[in-house]
Amino acid sequence: MTRVLLAEDDPTISDPLARALRREGYEVDVRADGRAALDGAQEAPDLVVLDLGLPYIDGLEVCRRIRAGGSTAPVLILTARADEVDTVVGLDAGADDYVTKPFRLAELLARVRALLRRNPNEQAGDNEVVRIDADGRRAWFNGEELQLTAKEFDLLRVLVRDQGKVVSREALMREVWETSWYGSTKTLDMHISVLRKKLGDDAAHPRCIATVRGVGFRFERPERD
Ligand code: CA
Repeated sequence: MTRVLLAEDDPTISDPLARALRREGYEVDVRADGRAALDGAQEAPDLVVLDLGLPYIDGLEVCRRIRAGGSTAPVLILTARADEVDTVVGLDAGADDYVTKPFRLAELLARVRALLRRNPNEQAGDNEVVRIDADGRRAWFNGEELQLTAKEFDLLRVLVRDQGKVVSREALMREVWETSWYGSTKTLDMHISVLRKKLGDDAAHPRCIATVRGVGFRFERPERD
């Protein structure tokens, strides 16, 4: 389950926001001051929603310490003052995005989703339609383990890793087949075709692996059935 750390001292903001995030299916840990937020960050959340004006330790310092601790979880800043945001982003405290108060819940949730898509940790989350265990070299589709050859696995891993972006044929040949000879990519096309079948994709209307004519392929995060 995707875990969100919500650090906000104003319950009129954190209560409805926590409810909305839980409705979205996230596990939410609400912390009402900077010290408690840092404690919460020890539990490796997938994303942090961080108010700047927190008691004891302000949000900016919390963000710096989270980054100094090695966490790469996306941090979404909440702030009432747009000029503070310049400081956050400009001084590179390590925040990824910001929303100014008052914000619309729908907008904030959209930012959260976008940040989680960008974060590879989330791509390995249990709620994904396609889940990849790169170390164990295993992959699951809708919870069922896929039976993949070594090259099929590598191809899927690269496409899922770069999901939403076009991966060129050349890049795939280089990364999966470790060859710089691009004369024929028939092997690649055959593997794509097999992967699509295993993912239940229809070549004419693929949901997972889209062909980008003349360039390569793009993995689209499929919706759960
Ligand atoms: Ca505050």
